[in-house]
Amino acid sequence: MTIGELLEATATRLPEATALIVRHQGIRWSYAELLARVDDLARGFLGAGLNPGDRIGIWAPNCIEWVLVQFAAARAGLVLVNINPAYRAGEMARALQMVGCAALVLARSFKSSDYVAMLAEVREALPELRLAFSIGEGEHPGCRPLSSVMTGGDAPLPNDVRPDDPTNIQFTSGTTGLPKGATLSHRNIVNNGYMVGHRIALSPADTLCIPVPLYHCFGMVMGNLACVAHGATMCFPGEGFDPGSTLETVAAEGCTALYGVPTMFVAMLEHPDFERYDLGTLRTGIMAGSLCPISVMRAVLDRMNMREVTIAYGMTETSPVSFQSGRDDAIELRVSTVGQVQPHLEAKVIDADGKTVPLGEPGELCTRGYSVMLGYWGDPEKTVEVIDADGWMHTGDLATLDEQGYGRIVGRIKDMIIRGGENIYPREIEEHLLTHPDIVDAQIFGVPDAKFGEEVCAWVISRSGTLSVEAVIAHCRNHIAHYKVPRHVRLVEQFPLTVTGKVQKFAMREIMVAELS
Ligand code: ATP
Ligand code: MG
Repeated sequence: MTIGELLEATATRLPEATALIVRHQGIRWSYAELLARVDDLARGFLGAGLNPGDRIGIWAPNCIEWVLVQFAAARAGLVLVNINPAYRAGEMARALQMVGCAALVLARSFKSSDYVAMLAEVREALPELRLAFSIGEGEHPGCRPLSSVMTGGDAPLPNDVRPDDPTNIQFTSGTTGLPKGATLSHRNIVNNGYMVGHRIALSPADTLCIPVPLYHCFGMVMGNLACVAHGATMCFPGEGFDPGSTLETVAAEGCTALYGVPTMFVAMLEHPDFERYDLGTLRTGIMAGSLCPISVMRAVLDRMNMREVTIAYGMTETSPVSFQSGRDDAIELRVSTVGQVQPHLEAKVIDADGKTVPLGEPGELCTRGYSVMLGYWGDPEKTVEVIDADGWMHTGDLATLDEQGYGRIVGRIKDMIIRGGENIYPREIEEHLLTHPDIVDAQIFGVPDAKFGEEVCAWVISRSGTLSVEAVIAHCRNHIAHYKVPRHVRLVEQFPLTVTGKVQKFAMREIMVAELS
């Protein structure tokens, strides 16, 4: 099924059901209304000279226009290219160049960034960009108002869009290097949205609060497509995440489900007005993106009433989710594992020679099935490095699988340190360092060493600012094996981060290598 067919099927089955609520824009539409407006915009895009197969970028925070463009692009057979609203001009231009965008829909401004001015700065370097559409009021140089193509027209919608056609290009986070453009088909993301929603039992009775960004698969696939697949209501509390407005939205709209990364849940739980909001309607949701401490899981279950909250694991290249916990898994299982593999997907863990390792032993996690991307846009060489001839996606993550099929993520292969023949998993040392009362955060990575091949290096953020290197080493000595004790320790105020807030160990490694040589 294509995304367009999915929306049409739901609008036919549940025309009066509420499709979406956009709190900050005062919008509340039924599925019939959403489909009608989506089709007007799809015809508008085709009437403006875009053709099926053309790439159309969207560079905006969460708003009704984002949702309209998402579904209109699919109905018109265009390929949607998600651009992170935190990107600056140069990053946005690189993304558009990589995939040859013919059109870009952009916000006027967000968080005091002037998007129209940033586009003007790089426009000359984008010869393939024929059209730019600005969201909101007013005329802007070099742009047409998006509203000018929202009124339909007589261009017929294509009837030959196929499930295996590319529909979406999403960029990876850039944690291990430059972001790569994963090309996803309708089949990839329609089915993943359906399966993610299925595991939390979404139905037309549910209203899902989506404070996570739409440019990311968490919002557009796990949020929007899951809702459309199950006839649930998408509910957006604001342009970007704000703990107060998210709590307010859940209480005011009676949301039954809520998504977020663990730090977003922490921000809500710590909000000074937390007790004022009635969250009694909440039932389920998803916490994904990074590990969830058990204290946070417990608070989410008890204080936010989310008895059926699940954990998910995935990657941009697999549309994204491949593992998700069950609604009634025990709490320990829900924090120590990423759940079981999704239906219709396979998983295995292999060693460096490609042989499957015994259950419980760490190795590279590989997944196979409908959710594996078509490939990296325009980069067949990089694609065959990660998808093998049998269709297995090599995730680059180290994991273990147990007898029941529960997966545990140990870390990234690139981050594993091999010192004098011993495999060292950074996470184990990081978790030990975090038991020190004056350590807020710690990152462990390897640096080249003439004697041992690699040595363990630690970057540590101290709470008081008075922690010493000796104290960090003393905290490790006699508590973890001698070869895991960091050889190089540096106290820092922050780590290098991607625009989405993921820690870039490769950047720390480069700095240390330059200093140590
Ligand atoms: P890049 O591929 O550009 O270096 P990235 O891998 O961080 O960046 P994403 O596709 O956004 O880009 O993230 C997928 C990765 O995030 C996974 O490969 C895994 O390492 C990590 N991850 C995802 N979910 C979880 C989880 N529940 N627990 C631990 N790690 C997770
Ligand atoms: Mg990756």
